[in-house]
Amino acid sequence: MGKPAGVRCLHLDKRFSCGLFNDPRRPRVCSEFKPEPLVCGSNRHEALVLIQRLELSCAP
Ligand code: SF4
Repeated sequence: MGKPAGVRCLHLDKRFSCGLFNDPRRPRVCSEFKPEPLVCGSNRHEALVLIQRLELSCAP
């Protein structure tokens, strides 16, 4: 049903894994996303920084 930017997905589990992986209910945007260094960096911290920059750059 969507969520605001910056809010944790309710399907993200305690190990930062997707609770809907291989589940047909997983959103298409998630299942079709291909990891990309410009978005994901090389670790979780870098990914959070890069994604926040992207969000800020396209915020209204
Ligand atoms: S892959 Fe999609 S559905 Fe799964 S935890 Fe991440 S945002 Fe949520």
